Amino acid sequence: MVYSSEFSVRTRDKKELIDITAQVREEVAKSNIKNGIAMVFVPHATAALYLNEHEGGLMRDVLSFLGEMIPENRPYLHNRIDDNATAHLGSIIFKPFVVMPLTGGRLDVGTWQNVFLIEMDGPRTRRVIIKVIGE
Ligand code: ZN
Repeated sequence: MVYSSEFSVRTRDKKELIDITAQVREEVAKSNIKNGIAMVFVPHATAALYLNEHEGGLMRDVLSFLGEMIPENRPYLHNRIDDNATAHLGSIIFKPFVVMPLTGGRLDVGTWQNVFLIEMDGPRTRRVIIKVIGE
C-alpha cells in the first residue's frame, strides 16, 4: 500500500532550519500503514532535509557548518544567473530527501532524530511530499 500526501512550509529567512517532525508524524498516522518506510522529499534545488537533534546550539552549528563548507564569497558561475549558487550546493550536499523505517505504525528513528527542512534561499513557500510505503 502507498499513502501519498504533501504539505507546505512558509520560510521566513534566507537561511533557516525548520523542524517538520510533527507534520511528518501526523501524515504517517493518517496513512494507517504499520510496517514499511516513510520517504519525505522536497522538490526544490535550493532546500534540503536532514535528521538530527532539535537543540538550539546544534541548529546554529549546522548553519555555521554550511557556511564554512560553502563560503558565500566565492566567484560561483551560477551567481551570474540568479545569485543563489550556495543554496544549490547546500541542497546537493544535504540532499532533498530522508527515508525512515516505520515499525508498529511509528517512525522507527532515534530519540534525537527529528526531521528538519533546511531553507537556503528563502523566504519561500516549500512543498514537502510524503510517501508512506508498506502494509
Ligand atoms: Zn539558482
